[in-house]
Amino acid sequence: MSGARTARRIQIATTKAGPTAEEVRERAIALALRGWVRAIDGGAICAHAEGDPGHLDELLAWLGAGATPEPAKVEGHEQFAIRGVPAGVFVVQEHQATAHHFDLRLEVEGVMRSWAVPKGPSLDPVVKRLAVEVDDHSLGHNEFEGRTGGGGVIIWDRGPYEQGGRVPWPAALERGHAVFVLHGSKLRGGFALQRTRGGEKPQWLLIKRRDEYARRGSDIVAERPESVQSGTTLEALLDAGSA
Ligand code: MN
Repeated sequence: MSGARTARRIQIATTKAGPTAEEVRERAIALALRGWVRAIDGGAICAHAEGDPGHLDELLAWLGAGATPEPAKVEGHEQFAIRGVPAGVFVVQEHQATAHHFDLRLEVEGVMRSWAVPKGPSLDPVVKRLAVEVDDHSLGHNEFEGRTGGGGVIIWDRGPYEQGGRVPWPAALERGHAVFVLHGSKLRGGFALQRTRGGEKPQWLLIKRRDEYARRGSDIVAERPESVQSGTTLEALLDAGSA
């Protein structure tokens, strides 16, 4: 690609013969364009494409009369992603060990990348929660709830999640800035993990993004202490074990 990039936000009215999101992505990649495509409610498709102006024109010509392009800001995408499709599962396990914490785990390439969050997640976008990167876990561990040696674990939340951002995963994690969308029972909408310190035990901040699921002043950990699997609280689980 030579010279300046330009960008278009494109609404595509889909017909039976019209392109799917996957076909739009394939065409965009063939034209060395970057951005994303998302199927939206009602069957239409929305896309953001940026790159060589001539290649953008080629994409629009291929899309034909069903496409409505508008000028957009160049955002610096490094991939052409399909948005709105799950990348895998996430789980948050509340864990009483030596210290009490919540383990946030995201499925990435067959393992659960994991962070220990001492205060737990928040839906308040003003709140930045320390998240200490810990060892990957197996997907099988996502199912674990029960007593452990000196403590216990409950499945506090879980569901599918989407990978977002301008950089493909897992490169986004290696670079220390990853954006994702959770579809849990308690945690919904966009979140960001931002690495603040590398080394042996990398430190990150877990931050709710500003969207329709953000709730200023809320405390989801206090409001919803129960397991999404059994309904028990960690406190009740620990009490039952010591009775
Ligand atoms: Mn833990």
